Amino acid sequence: MENIIVTGVRGLPLIRAGDNIAAMICERVTVEDGDIISLASTVYSKSKGYTKPLAEITPSARALRLAELNGEDPRFVQAVLDASQDIIMEHPFILSLLPFGHIGVRAGVDQSNIDDGMVIFLPPDPMKAATELSDEIKVITGKKVGVIITDTCGRSFRRGQTGHAIGWSGFTAIRDFRGDTDLFGHELKITEEAVVDEIAGFANFVMGESNNGVPAVLFRNCPPWTGHDSLYFTKNEDITRRLLKKACPS
Ligand code: GDP
Ligand code: MN
Ligand code: MN
Repeated sequence: MENIIVTGVRGLPLIRAGDNIAAMICERVTVEDGDIISLASTVYSKSKGYTKPLAEITPSARALRLAELNGEDPRFVQAVLDASQDIIMEHPFILSLLPFGHIGVRAGVDQSNIDDGMVIFLPPDPMKAATELSDEIKVITGKKVGVIITDTCGRSFRRGQTGHAIGWSGFTAIRDFRGDTDLFGHELKITEEAVVDEIAGFANFVMGESNNGVPAVLFRNCPPWTGHDSLYFTKNEDITRRLLKKACPS
């Protein structure tokens, strides 16, 4: 197996609505068939205009109540509520389900790496975003690359945020080891590896969180894998969600 090469895409400007991210990436790195590009959701959203001035948001009664409770700007809280399909926890921070299946703190709404007084929403359909970016890169370069759209997310049980995949294209989210045998011949019964999250995690490390200016990371020579795309638990499978909902009635 060849060594995996990881390259941050440097020299991208501040992204504005209307920017062609695929073209901007292809101007700065050479891609090959089978490469994987991780892109921060923040810049995808900025390029598509999934942003809003706080000044244009009128907080509802619920937003006012949660803003008071959590010590946040009511307009920001309203943006979070607007992005959410189901509020799982209200305090000490809002944890919610987004329509595309992701559960995240403050619905992934960001106020960093954008002008003052603006919020950035997660892309409404990150799977489509990943496919779109892959298709656009194919048109420009003739090369077929996989794409992962990432966001920095907190986790249960552990301090610290890591990169998570919220959309992907060109491979399955999960590498399924079930039915495989280990070094001692034992059959694996449970192991499903969330490969897209692992790659997103390392991409996030290369990106950094603040002013690094590296929203895209290229991976070369990742070995292929097979599995499935059911990354998100269904409502019935998700024990944490069920218990939180029960413990935190709103
Ligand atoms: P998120 O994890 O998707 O919420 O994105 P972050 O705000 O953490 O940014 C990830 C990386 O992209 C960091 O290196 C940022 O400095 C960089 N970044 C964010 N916005 C821009 C931009 O408009 N242009 C460039 N060149 N880099 C950006
Ligand atoms: Mn984010
Ligand atoms: Mn981040």
